[in-house]
Amino acid sequence: MLRRSAWQAGGVDERAKPPLIISACLLGVACNHEGRGSPRAVVDDLAERYRLIPVCPEVLGGLPTPRAAAELDGGDGADVLAAGGARVVNVDGEDVSAAYRRGAEAAVAVARAVGATRAVLKARSPSCGTAGVYDGTFSRRLVPGRGVTAAALAAAGLEVGSEEDAAAAPPATATTAPPPS
Ligand code: SF4
Repeated sequence: MLRRSAWQAGGVDERAKPPLIISACLLGVACNHEGRGSPRAVVDDLAERYRLIPVCPEVLGGLPTPRAAAELDGGDGADVLAAGGARVVNVDGEDVSAAYRRGAEAAVAVARAVGATRAVLKARSPSCGTAGVYDGTFSRRLVPGRGVTAAALAAAGLEVGSEEDAAAAPPATATTAPPPS
């Protein structure tokens, strides 16, 4: 009798699915600043078509969980990466920009290592936000812009969207791209 390998369960070869970078909290990993996850049903749909690669840039950047809430101040994530005066500041007034930059670099390194061309990231996070971020006043006021990691992944050539985008219109299955040399 022909035996199936574990990665071929259900007749699907998991190795053939294209990789997708995804915010770890969307899978339910308790890594957000409150020490909780943010599980979303759309992840099940994405997992049928993609090999999910979870990353939490804030944890990869060296921040503890739980941690003080932080917001972008003076610009968006691209401005923080450009070191043009924009910062990530937490609610205690501490500048945590360096940790956010480290986390963004780590997420880009993971994306390159697996050859990912798309990312689905948690909306409105100072790291992962893809279209709007809080404005640094800690008053829940949104302004247009990306988080630091979302900006870094976009600059690295990935198509970046949020879980809300994916729920509204799931991204089409991508072809697997080889890791950049
Ligand atoms: Fe981590 Fe991004 Fe989720 Fe924040 S939004 S907990 S940085 S994965």
